[in-house]
Amino acid sequence: MNDVTTQIRLQQALQGHEAVELLFPGEPGYEEGRQLYNRMHDLHPLLIVRTLDRAAIRTVLKVVTENRLELALRGGGHHIAGFGSTEGGVLLDFSGFRGVEIDAQQGIARVQPGARLGDVDAALCPRGYVVPTGTVSDTGIAGLTLGGGIGWFVGTLGFTCDNLVGADVMLASGEVVRAEDPQHRDLLWALRGGGGNFGVVLEFRYRLSPLPKVYCGSIAVAPQEVPRVLLQLGHYMEQDCPANLVLAPLFSPVPESDRCGLAIDFCLSDYQDLGAIEALEQALGLVGRHQYVTDDFRAWQGWFDDRFQPPMRGYWKSICLDDFTSDAMDALLTAASSMPGQRCSITIEHLNKARRSTTPDDSAFPLKSRSYSVLFSARWEQARDDDRFIRWVRAAALATAGNDGAPAYSNYSFAEGSSHTVLLGSDSERLLKVKQRYDGGNLFRRNHNIGMNKEAARAPA
Ligand SMILES: Cc1cc2nc3c(=O)[nH]c(=O)nc-3n(C[C@H](O)[C@H](O)[C@H](O)COP(=O)(O)OP(=O)(O)OC[C@H]3O[C@@H](n4cnc5c(N)ncnc54)[C@H](O)[C@@H]3O)c2cc1C
Repeated sequence: MNDVTTQIRLQQALQGHEAVELLFPGEPGYEEGRQLYNRMHDLHPLLIVRTLDRAAIRTVLKVVTENRLELALRGGGHHIAGFGSTEGGVLLDFSGFRGVEIDAQQGIARVQPGARLGDVDAALCPRGYVVPTGTVSDTGIAGLTLGGGIGWFVGTLGFTCDNLVGADVMLASGEVVRAEDPQHRDLLWALRGGGGNFGVVLEFRYRLSPLPKVYCGSIAVAPQEVPRVLLQLGHYMEQDCPANLVLAPLFSPVPESDRCGLAIDFCLSDYQDLGAIEALEQALGLVGRHQYVTDDFRAWQGWFDDRFQPPMRGYWKSICLDDFTSDAMDALLTAASSMPGQRCSITIEHLNKARRSTTPDDSAFPLKSRSYSVLFSARWEQARDDDRFIRWVRAAALATAGNDGAPAYSNYSFAEGSSHTVLLGSDSERLLKVKQRYDGGNLFRRNHNIGMNKEAARAPA
């Protein structure tokens, strides 16, 4: 069957469904609608469907299955691997459905699948609540949650996925289930970090937490101080950092120079005084050096938005470490000194060891026992530069991971035959069983896919 026949079939099947917007190639809005955050992915869906109508979505799943098409689901469209679209398949685009509703009585937030992190903060923070998410306001909460979710409250409230307490999920069969119901607790567990492998999430439900008082800022480290400070920082993060202080050391090029600086961005939450910041400065030999930025959590959440504006081409690699060896630090310093462009960076996401005793971890998130996620990120404009930037990211990640390799964070990883290293950790067998129970036919495969990696998962590590 050719594309036109398939398109006609899809159009016929969806006729009569209300509140459904269809976009075919060549129609107004299609070009804009097919674009993703990462312009490395130039994908052309056969059809873009925008709806939250359950009957219409059920029809889409049926037609896609019968015609063996690829199905893509889009929340914010930010996944670096381009999973939020498809070449020649059907795209279910939820990006326009951004509602966030507070149910104070139940202590939960009900969130539509196209909501961005900024939408969640805008609805919750003014009323004194928070769901811990990540940074950069336009990132989708759907993909972020399903992949894990690392943000400024990781030390006290855990990962975003730890705060997911329920969800309405449409399975491949078209049945809608509530993941928090006793018979589907395995599904809820899997949605917490196991990716979009199990069904279409129609509504996410999160535990509400009181918005803590915050003190946010940064410590700038001059290029010549970086090697010494990095060593002391490694020691501080390992031994002394309290749960309510989350650090995000960021290497980036110093504008107008060929050197690389380090900014230790931080968020102190739920604090009585600034003792923790003073102790940090002391430990780094940088007394009195921190710069206060804001005590407005929403402002801090959006602080880095400008730096990450689309459209741009991008390539990322992530490695997750248990501790910072001196070899890893040397490799980071070498990588930082050879960044090929102004929009390159290396972020050390400090997953705060203290978290392990303060937050729940009943999740499939394979990195829940790791201490650091290091993100090597390159962004650039022209396709002719692809090779140069990609080579830098790959070499930097490889050198830092060392010979034994290291797991990667699925939300920061391209699809490069590496799905088993990003999703299947110590809970592989359990995750595979859940996949088999809810999506044995692997309809939901446009993601870091569990279904494709059964053999890899069973192989001894
Ligand atoms: C600028 C930027 C900043 C970021 N900052 C952070 C951060 O601070 N912390 C962090 O942890 N991560 C961060 N990320 C990574 C982010 O978590 C991932 O890119 C995430 O996948 C984004 O979700 P999305 O909904 O926008 O993505 P999409 O590309 O829309 O979707 C991602 C995946 O989720 C699946 N999916 C989407 N919606 C549904 C649904 N309704 N049901 C089932 N599956 C679905 C898709 O199939 C796809 O596989 C950032 C990314 C960017 C680009």
